[in-house]
Amino acid sequence: MNDLLKRHQAVIPDWVTLYYRDPIEITHGEGRYVWDAEGRRYLDFFGGILTTMTAHALPEVTRAVSEQAGRMIHSSTLYLNRPMVELAERIAALSGIPDARVFFTTSGTEANDTALLLATAHRRSNQVLAMRNSYHGRSFSTVSITGNRSWTPTTLSPLQTLYVHGGVRTRGPYAHLDDAEFTAACVADLTDLLGHTGDVAALIAEPVQGIGGFTSPPDGLYAAFREVLAERGVLWIADEVQTGWGRTGEHFWGWQAHGAGGPPDLLTFAKGIGNGMSIGGVVGRAEIMNGLSANSISTFGGSPVTMAAGLANLSYLLEHDLQGNARRVGGLLIERLRAATAGLDRVREVRGRGLMIGIEIAKPGTGGADPEATGAVLEAAREGGLLVGKGGGHDSSALRIAPPLTLTAAEAAEGADILEHALRSVC
Ligand code: PLP
Repeated sequence: MNDLLKRHQAVIPDWVTLYYRDPIEITHGEGRYVWDAEGRRYLDFFGGILTTMTAHALPEVTRAVSEQAGRMIHSSTLYLNRPMVELAERIAALSGIPDARVFFTTSGTEANDTALLLATAHRRSNQVLAMRNSYHGRSFSTVSITGNRSWTPTTLSPLQTLYVHGGVRTRGPYAHLDDAEFTAACVADLTDLLGHTGDVAALIAEPVQGIGGFTSPPDGLYAAFREVLAERGVLWIADEVQTGWGRTGEHFWGWQAHGAGGPPDLLTFAKGIGNGMSIGGVVGRAEIMNGLSANSISTFGGSPVTMAAGLANLSYLLEHDLQGNARRVGGLLIERLRAATAGLDRVREVRGRGLMIGIEIAKPGTGGADPEATGAVLEAAREGGLLVGKGGGHDSSALRIAPPLTLTAAEAAEGADILEHALRSVC
């Protein structure tokens, strides 16, 4: 065992798990590639869990961070902060939410926690609906709205949560239904839940489930949900921590695939906006966002260095149409992966949107989840020089592919070749 791993195990709790039998120490990156401490290069198809949204060591972001750090790292929440106001203005305008206000945090967990604080205060209810198989964070409140049992380390919870159907399409009681029937069944499930529940504050949902294995509900599902929710004044919180900023290719936000219902009441974001710097936040209508009765600051939320990174990164991705690149290169990649895996009996499905692609791996015959085979593919891909992610839940296991959005067609082909080889060696 390498020395750093021994030291890691001696001081870090054992529920902080690492990928790979022989965990990698990554020392630096450039573009879509990273290098380990032994000097091996890997093509990065997971972008630091979707945080490196644009590219590793993007000069525009590095320059903005070092210039801001040279002037002022942190001045506190007590004084005006120009980069924070500028980034808030840009996110408010991009959100599609009228009369929007933005509150910055340092993580996705804290963003969702804040959204729950706002929604429960606005509705004066501590009941929340979440989706089966969902993931929303690791704090006390967000664990209690996380439906994915692999990510709920405690069942004690400050919120009362009911779980709605609608995330997983490949198995479960609705698996055989077409999109329209599936949507109708999920709406009936939601209506039924609301019918025997008191006042509910909100429904929180990821437009495409991330940790759950990159599963998308049919387009329009959340628009249909919103009709039912709006009748009762229940808020919709879209957790865009993984789906925002053009990653899904066709839309800038994941909620736009459900656009008929208009923008969500609250939208939470994190991960990619800082290209690796710790930015999270909530954006929503002023009447909800202004609804707390006392101070509730986040000391490091909106820190000038992270805001400078966010501004530079956002400018880069808009000016270079990275959403369009995600659509084009993601489209090529998914077609290539579908062709490469046709006939492999453990590959149940290659699905995705833009550069958010899931490959579901199942046991032959029974069709049940196969985390061992999924892990073996991860190891084989690493041997070939490719990093990918994994996920799943509710009896499913999947590889997750989410490279930086500057991925080129040649890099997509390189990664697809390595992955095909890895999949063929295991599946
Ligand atoms: N929401 C979603 C959809 C996520 O995928 C994650 C993290 O993976 C979170 C919230 C929590 O974000 P963080 O890890 O930044 O706290």
